[in-house]
Amino acid sequence: PYEHMQKIREQNISPSLRMYYKKPLLLHQGHMQWLFDYEGRRYLDLFAGIVTVSVGHCHPKVTVAAQKQLARLWHTTNIYMHPSIHEYAEKLTSFLPDPLKVVYLTNSGSEANDLAMFMARLYTRNFDIISLRGAYHGGSPYTLGLTSVGLYKHSVANGFGCSTTMLPDVFRGPWGGSHCRDSPVQTVRKCSCSEGWLFTNTFSNLQLTDCIMCVCHANDQYIEQFKDTLNTSVPKTIAGFIAEPIQGVNGAVQYPRNFLKEAYQLVRERGGICISDEVQTGFGRTGSHFWGFETHGVVPDIVTLAKGIGNGFPMAAVVTTKDIASSLAQNLHFNTFGGSPLACVVGAAVLDAIEEDGLQKNSEEVGTYMLLELAKLRDKFEVVGDVRGKGLMIGVEMVTDKDSRHPLPGEEINQIWEDCKDMGVLIGRGGLYSQTFRIKPPMCINKKDVDFTVEVLNTALQKHME
Ligand code: PMP
Repeated sequence: PYEHMQKIREQNISPSLRMYYKKPLLLHQGHMQWLFDYEGRRYLDLFAGIVTVSVGHCHPKVTVAAQKQLARLWHTTNIYMHPSIHEYAEKLTSFLPDPLKVVYLTNSGSEANDLAMFMARLYTRNFDIISLRGAYHGGSPYTLGLTSVGLYKHSVANGFGCSTTMLPDVFRGPWGGSHCRDSPVQTVRKCSCSEGWLFTNTFSNLQLTDCIMCVCHANDQYIEQFKDTLNTSVPKTIAGFIAEPIQGVNGAVQYPRNFLKEAYQLVRERGGICISDEVQTGFGRTGSHFWGFETHGVVPDIVTLAKGIGNGFPMAAVVTTKDIASSLAQNLHFNTFGGSPLACVVGAAVLDAIEEDGLQKNSEEVGTYMLLELAKLRDKFEVVGDVRGKGLMIGVEMVTDKDSRHPLPGEEINQIWEDCKDMGVLIGRGGLYSQTFRIKPPMCINKKDVDFTVEVLNTALQKHME
């Protein structure tokens, strides 16, 4: 059946959908943090269907809720009332601070960010949007303008020039990596101060050359860059600024302390609104807080939610203020599937599971344990350039050596990654050169799973060094 499926893939499935591993996995079952293939092999899933299976594969509570609703009513479209959308909107917003109380349900993160941009423009009557380098905000033609991770840029976009996007009105703030750089530029080194090394010391995808910094003292320079972007690219007016609290696809890249806070202030002074893309960081994943924006001490004007919101069920949301939401009210703004009874029931069950299973607290405890254990590998192996992140949103960056911080060549990273898979651990990849291992498991994993992960990574790294 495997060869037959490969043949179908070649003929009937888009070539843009690339699979992980030399021999892609053929999976048939999932249970909580575990996946099983057809040969009965069990894998610890540290990537959760790309940060989506938040509470666990086939979580019993969510599964039962979905099954019950499947037998009752799947779909109405929003021209009729059904209780589930009301219950869900009330429940979801109870997790968000004032004034973020109005929900619009969509089907994907891209669609949510499309709508957030649209609202920012309608509300402010301005046009320009700023996103950060290294950001990923979606794959729709509109959000591709916000996304700057190069692999996702199609040549039609590149044809406009190296750092431009499909939309001429999206400007890039000073963050992350450039998708048009020819050679890896070494920008970041180990910080000399004692703070910041463990979790958040480096930003190796940084756009700037010759900067040596960490979260402890990088902020001034970046805020100055951000001001520059505002002053030069968006001189008069701005509609909005969008950022992930931690850059996900870019490999758990974090900002200097207070960067977002100051950026929000600058944007608001110029009449723009601030959008927090919580597609990866939301729903307790960062551990200390339920939402990523809370870890920065800011309250956005719009938040966008997807992935973990439905534990794998296709659903997403935009939550904003009453005032901003009213900008849509002049017209019908409609999508067919958003807010279906099925999605709303699943979404509510996910929120219940997070609370009942204590998953935010677990993210904090197990995530911190994971970071500390991985840091031991960083200290032991020259090729582990950085371990960073927060809660269960972790990046392990692979480098040739800690001094140059060149990305480890692809074949070498691939071998370590394949070996981990063969030993039963599935890890994600990210960063400008795909040089960062991304660890973002279902939030139900435990310390034993961490020990297993570290043991497997240690073995794979040891083999690499031989
Ligand atoms: N925002 C972020 C931060 C994401 O990571 C992603 C998906 N990787 C999206 C938006 C887009 O979500 P979707 O794939 O559901 O359109």
